Amino acid sequence: MIDYKGTAVEDLYETALNIYSKGWAERNGGNISCLLSEEELAAIADKAGVIRKIPLGLRLPALEGKIFLATGTGKYFKNMKKSPETCMGIVRICGGGTEGELLWGLNDGGNFTSELASHLYSHDARLKQDKNHKVIVHTHPTNLISMTFVHKMNEKDFTNTLWKMCTECLLVFPDGIGVIPWMISANNAIGKLTAEKMEEHRLVVWGQHGIYGSGENFDEALGLIETAEKAAEIYLKIRQFPIEESIGDGDLKDLAEAYRLSFRADYLDLGTTEKIYGCKKSS
Ligand code: 13P
Ligand code: ZN
Repeated sequence: MIDYKGTAVEDLYETALNIYSKGWAERNGGNISCLLSEEELAAIADKAGVIRKIPLGLRLPALEGKIFLATGTGKYFKNMKKSPETCMGIVRICGGGTEGELLWGLNDGGNFTSELASHLYSHDARLKQDKNHKVIVHTHPTNLISMTFVHKMNEKDFTNTLWKMCTECLLVFPDGIGVIPWMISANNAIGKLTAEKMEEHRLVVWGQHGIYGSGENFDEALGLIETAEKAAEIYLKIRQFPIEESIGDGDLKDLAEAYRLSFRADYLDLGTTEKIYGCKKSS
């Protein structure tokens, strides 16, 4: 068996196993993709020829030439480490951002994740915000999904509630969380909408489905999701009880000032018209 230690394949399967152990990856639930450099590709597939062409059904010229490692459709996170060449593939974008060339993996003739459009549109959006962006993780965290049934589904209210559930939330995702009420997934429409939200947020929740997290590495993308999921769990635990103590909007502003970070002030009730408040960029 080929040893993928120290490569992006190892990072991906370790992240997938971690997510599986949390109970968020039932059956083939979730998908992951990661931007690779030429060196990172060479570490996985030394002589990468084109195995087959993959039509993308979209046009993203800014991604021309970019290389992505991504999970395959119908593949189980728990199996990613056992058979990486079957469960994942590497694609180089070509044809002006309309086509892909399969360079490695998917060796059972399978296809990339049915959410590939959401991943590619989101990579495109995040790369415009952060030149070091690399990873998109989609998963099905139980408490966040549950929260989308009982909470208002808009960015301001959803973010405000999560920030108030534990002190670290504002510090970890000061850019807040994008919110998409239920819609049909696995198509370009949800991909474009997710990417629109990704222009301003590194996290986007999909009603009654799951979440997208992005980051400069696997730990960052998953860490964002873990933090939001923990807050959602606390929200669901306390929701039924009378509240005696809480963090207020003014407290959150003081917290951001103490840490000298900028945040989405329009997600708090501060009587300010400023959208971004603070001194440094959040992502
Ligand atoms: P795929 O198996 O096509 O990646 O789909 C899993 C999923 O989570 C769909 O939203
Ligand atoms: Zn899903």
